Amino acid sequence: MMEIVLYPDPRLRAKNAPITSFDDELKQLARGMLDLMYETKGVGLAAPQVGVNRRMMVFNAEGDPEKPEFETILCNPRVVRKAKSKVSAEEGCLSFPGIYAQVERPEDIVILAQDVNGEEFELALDDWSARVFQHEFDHLEGVLFIDRFSPSDKMRLKPVLRGLEFDYKEKIAGS
Ligand SMILES: [Zn+2]
Repeated sequence: MMEIVLYPDPRLRAKNAPITSFDDELKQLARGMLDLMYETKGVGLAAPQVGVNRRMMVFNAEGDPEKPEFETILCNPRVVRKAKSKVSAEEGCLSFPGIYAQVERPEDIVILAQDVNGEEFELALDDWSARVFQHEFDHLEGVLFIDRFSPSDKMRLKPVLRGLEFDYKEKIAGS
């Protein structure tokens, strides 16, 4: 049973290996991640967030299972170009329940990635979808959105992070 890996699980900071086989297992993983993302009301999910340290992510910037045309599965994505202009907006993360803060990111981005069959394609993203991609791409790099918070948000959210760290230790101790 697939479940969301929560902060501070070390798998969120581990190195993620490239996808090399575009097989049924990969397709099932992608489908399972999309379903779990919808169940948990997310708009994106990276493989390390389900404990799989591989360079794969899924997102649907609309967050709506009734709109599968917005489903995107990216294997081995890389950033080709990004806008110099940055915009700030509030983000949450399925691995950080209860934590929301402003994050500044480039407004537009162009990426190269492979689909679940290994076919390479280019994708230009802007606004919200560019933000969702960059948040998930950070996960593939072992970077978490808390790393990008302003000093005042870091201070404000410290007690909530401490709470997550406490819950994690309890869970490890109980398993
Ligand atoms: Zn996240």
